[in-house]
Amino acid sequence: MSKIDNDPGAVLGAFAAAIGSGDVKVVDLTHTLDPDFPVIVLPPEFGQCARFRMEEISAYDHRGPAWKWRNFTCGEHTGTHFDAPAHWISGRDLPNNSVDEISPSRFFGPIQVIDCSEGAAEDEDFELTPALIEAWEDEHGEILPSSWVLMRTDWSKRNGAAYLNMLEDGPHSPGPTPEAVQFLVDKRNIRGFGTETVGPDAGQGAHYSPPYPAHYYLHGAGRLGLQCLTNLDRLPPRGAFLIAPPLKIKNGTGSPLRVLALVAQVAAPHYAE
Ligand code: MN
Repeated sequence: MSKIDNDPGAVLGAFAAAIGSGDVKVVDLTHTLDPDFPVIVLPPEFGQCARFRMEEISAYDHRGPAWKWRNFTCGEHTGTHFDAPAHWISGRDLPNNSVDEISPSRFFGPIQVIDCSEGAAEDEDFELTPALIEAWEDEHGEILPSSWVLMRTDWSKRNGAAYLNMLEDGPHSPGPTPEAVQFLVDKRNIRGFGTETVGPDAGQGAHYSPPYPAHYYLHGAGRLGLQCLTNLDRLPPRGAFLIAPPLKIKNGTGSPLRVLALVAQVAAPHYAE
């Protein structure tokens, strides 16, 4: 009989020990919340997402002699953030579609990283297609059900205006085609899709049919999104594990959050004896 059968604490104990020893490395996939970090900019006729803002309440002074604290404001979709199905009209009527209602177990899952960094370096409108996903699977194995697929583009290394890359005809940044998102949702049954760019869709995603296909198909199927991720170049193509619980905002359509990946540095401990 395995040790796990006798001792339910063994799994979590081994996990805690592996974190402590560094055998499991924690990779932070989060940008710092900062007023200078760009937020998505929509055409001027639409409402706009707010940047992160901070105001001091006191700093060990007459407003509070022994303590320092601040108030902050931001949008649900500011900085590294989570998209719930309620964010999009296609997910509007789904049950449990807001951040406070999603089952917490869905905030975890295996990670697969599809490296599109070379293509994105050559083409700012680089598209992730079903053919590219299948080529990745030929090399790394089939994408797991209920997993998170992260599209690596190294876009997180861009600064300032180059991040949104706003040109005369709108923003230009890489993203998935409608067919790629449908493949991941319908054929691979993924839990969520994440990107380094300001949204899960390409900068020119308004011109697809349907417009913004990642938002449309993911949220229409009750799936989740992450964007403004960083450090995807520190993850293996598969084998890492995601931790991404959003803030519990009532009826929230999304939330800034800390996104962490766990990466095992050695083979998992064996308890078969
Ligand atoms: Mn969003």
